[in-house]
Amino acid sequence: MALQFSRALRRLATVPLYRSSAQGVRLASSKPDEEETIPTDMEQATGLERKELEALMQGKEDPFNMSVQSGPRGTREQPTLVPSMYEERIVGCICEEDATFITWQVVNKGAAHRCECGQFYQLVDANPTKIDNI
Ligand SMILES: [Zn+2]
Repeated sequence: MALQFSRALRRLATVPLYRSSAQGVRLASSKPDEEETIPTDMEQATGLERKELEALMQGKEDPFNMSVQSGPRGTREQPTLVPSMYEERIVGCICEEDATFITWQVVNKGAAHRCECGQFYQLVDANPTKIDNI
């Protein structure tokens, strides 16, 4: 039993592979008509991972709003809106233009949160099934 498994494993490990033009890696011993390929990431991704890949292929480099945002300072009347799928989100504030550190804070949904520098942030609902949603 173990010997058979060992032979099968050795045979599998020594099968040469070649890359098909657009469909991933195929075993060289398989007939060209058969679809014995290893699926690509795009073929096997589902759910949010697939939506992320589709967004990246459409040229959206930040589908989940994870990059640094800049803009006007958030005020009490017009706070900086931060999308979140949860009840809270960790937000980093570069309080001054030449600051050498980031002030991290937990912002909860509800009223606007005031950073120690005076800038206001407010969480807004983000749809987990819709990318680029604000
Ligand atoms: Zn700040």
